[in-house]
Amino acid sequence: MNIPESLKDIQQFVARGEISLVNICKEYIDRIKSSKTNSFIEIFENEALSKAEEIQKKITDNGAGLLAGLFIGLKDNICYQGHQLTASSKILKGFESMFSATAVEKIIKEDGIFIGRLNCDEFAMGSSNENSIYGPVKNPIDLNKVPGGSSGGSAAAVAERLCNATLGSDTGGSVRQPASFCGVVGFKPTYGRVSRNGLIAYGSSFDQIGVFSKNIDDTCLISHVISGADKFDSTVSIKKPNKKTINNVDKKLNIGIPEDYLNFKNLDPEIKEKTLSVIENLKSKGHHIELLKFPYLEYIVPTYYVLSTAEASSNLSRYDGAHFGLRSYDSSDINTTYENTRSEGFGIEVKRRIMLGNFVLSSGYYDAYFTKAQKVRRLISQKTFQMLEKNDVLLFPTTPTTAFNIGEIEDPVTMYLQDIFTVHANIVGLPAISLPIGKHSNNLPFGIQLMSGKFKENQLFELSKFLMQNY
Ligand code: GLN
Repeated sequence: MNIPESLKDIQQFVARGEISLVNICKEYIDRIKSSKTNSFIEIFENEALSKAEEIQKKITDNGAGLLAGLFIGLKDNICYQGHQLTASSKILKGFESMFSATAVEKIIKEDGIFIGRLNCDEFAMGSSNENSIYGPVKNPIDLNKVPGGSSGGSAAAVAERLCNATLGSDTGGSVRQPASFCGVVGFKPTYGRVSRNGLIAYGSSFDQIGVFSKNIDDTCLISHVISGADKFDSTVSIKKPNKKTINNVDKKLNIGIPEDYLNFKNLDPEIKEKTLSVIENLKSKGHHIELLKFPYLEYIVPTYYVLSTAEASSNLSRYDGAHFGLRSYDSSDINTTYENTRSEGFGIEVKRRIMLGNFVLSSGYYDAYFTKAQKVRRLISQKTFQMLEKNDVLLFPTTPTTAFNIGEIEDPVTMYLQDIFTVHANIVGLPAISLPIGKHSNNLPFGIQLMSGKFKENQLFELSKFLMQNY
């Protein structure tokens, strides 16, 4: 069965009685069951089917919400009341959410249907989706390759058409990097655009819930729905969400190109070439292009890993065997309960980051690492805002390479360097999107990234739609 790709088409087909939501739901469930990528770890089968019936009626009665007809997957680090939630970690085994994330509630209110739970790197820490208690996710384009991480399941599921869209989280690139590796659209909103209430905290000053889909119209609409003020997250802005639809696709913009990104020594030559050809094309269509210097590229990954591990070590202290999920019973008192539960429950990468985070926060090293990294964060932000004074959007690749083999990268630092082009947006809190317009001669996709000023999502979507139409 063919399922129309965009939500608008699905809604029209359903309204005309040419397709039913129950049939779409059954088709997606069949596809998930026969998938070989390990992206879904649970299907909400009965629930999704009964909601499909209910929302089908709403569409035919003309009383449906904005997301009626949307089947959406949920990364396993976002709360959905009454459903399991593990962050792909043993330490949360058996835990059930007591409430739904604000973003989840908003989607349900607009009649979107959650179809299942998606594999990810443990506590969203990773760039390959290999750090998961459920085993690695495979890239649907080539099952020997990683899908990227940490929202690898969310990216693979959309690429494989197991649902229309998915939610992921992006702390340092976890939506955009897997989107690039799997050939789908991946969007991270401005920090403070979407409530983090109900998102398992990793690096609280970086985390945002993001959206995967196949097209910009759906990305724009879902982002509109999940945005907006929330009394449960004081960092969310009261600014109006981005518009529901994209109007002005042909607006001529000032586009800045940080040259240092294109001259990065490990950038794949074909990705560089494609980025340059996109830039040429934009120039020929009347956009103004300016080459920019960004002197902090080499500091961007260290800054991110000092600060994000510091925040993570504090956020993850709550998993102690007393409050959530796993408890080691092989313990004699409260301290051994903490020690044993955390030793048994956390995977190796999470432990590495907790230790690193505690180290950079320890009294003897606090100023040398944590304070210093905060200062560098400030410098990176100032320089970026300066680049955005004259430019509407910055353009550069999403990833230096295409997807690598499962098991290929063993060294943690090499893995951390995979985030070199994505952490910038999180350090500064800017919105950014990866567009699946690159195709390598090795047959794998790669993304071109756009980043704009704070709360300028409308602009980002306008240029994104233009680029998607032209490639
Ligand atoms: N790969 C990065 C990390 O491991 C980003 C993860 C994320 O955005 N959640 O921290």
